[in-house]
Amino acid sequence: MRSPVQQYLESIVEQCSGTEGEVASYIPELAQTDPDRFALALATVDGHVYTLGEAETCFSIQSISKPFTYALALADRGFQGVAEKVDVEPSGEAFNEISLASDTGRPPNPMINAGAITAASLIAGENTESRFARVLDWLSGFAGRDLEVDEKVYTSELTTAHRNRAIAHMLREFNILHGDPEEQLDLYVRQCAVSVNTRDLAVMAATLANGGVQPVTQRRMLEPAYVERVLSVMATCGMYDAAGDWISAVGMPAKSGVSGGIIAVLPGQVGLAVFSPRLDAHGTSARGVQVCERMSNDMDMHLMHVG
Ligand code: GLN
Repeated sequence: MRSPVQQYLESIVEQCSGTEGEVASYIPELAQTDPDRFALALATVDGHVYTLGEAETCFSIQSISKPFTYALALADRGFQGVAEKVDVEPSGEAFNEISLASDTGRPPNPMINAGAITAASLIAGENTESRFARVLDWLSGFAGRDLEVDEKVYTSELTTAHRNRAIAHMLREFNILHGDPEEQLDLYVRQCAVSVNTRDLAVMAATLANGGVQPVTQRRMLEPAYVERVLSVMATCGMYDAAGDWISAVGMPAKSGVSGGIIAVLPGQVGLAVFSPRLDAHGTSARGVQVCERMSNDMDMHLMHVG
């Protein structure tokens, strides 16, 4: 028999049909995605996972990696070490905006590309290879299984990343990045190409909801003080130039990615993940936003909800 949660999820999906938007095409490999793919997953802090649709089908994580690599940078360098290089102010700008503070050169926040490339550059390790191995282990720890890189997506993005390459070189000019900016760019593009499925994302989100302890494996991934910081930055900056609309309508810290995933976190309760590759003008899954709004309303998940 289907559980009430399962029945509810099915009813939501029928109501949010989502035929608007286009799949991302600026990364050529992403243009190959079937636009009608769909999955939804909900993971509770006590380790229950409910899924609907193609929840085991993989896609590249893209910008949903950003809160997690920011978390790793915090764990490696501490609040101060990270704050010297990247701020926590919402920029109200698109994810790929070429945007740095005019005095310090710091990117406004780690959710836009400039800040995420900076966060990636702060990840400790001997060389790019060992640093990326740490990123992959880290993301795998949150997901609770060994993740891999989608090499096609990686190569496709790296060979066309003119804008991110420009951002990386500009960060180098301001002494925000050190060493070879191409290496930092490579690390960032690789982190974006890590292949996940919707179930993984829900569990990763639930790890944040659970104060940094992975709810299935029970492994502590992150200290609560850093979880609080990551969730704060997701709440204010995770949806870029739609952050205000999102926090008003959905009311949860969240992060989207151009492959069509969205995660949302209800602290102390659940992690939510949706996958639908048609994107709105902000580069966020159009159907994903609809589904999250709907669930937030139906289940009073809005953090500012006062009854
Ligand atoms: N890898 C993508 C980029 O840097 C990630 C963007 C996103 O998912 N919003 O352009």
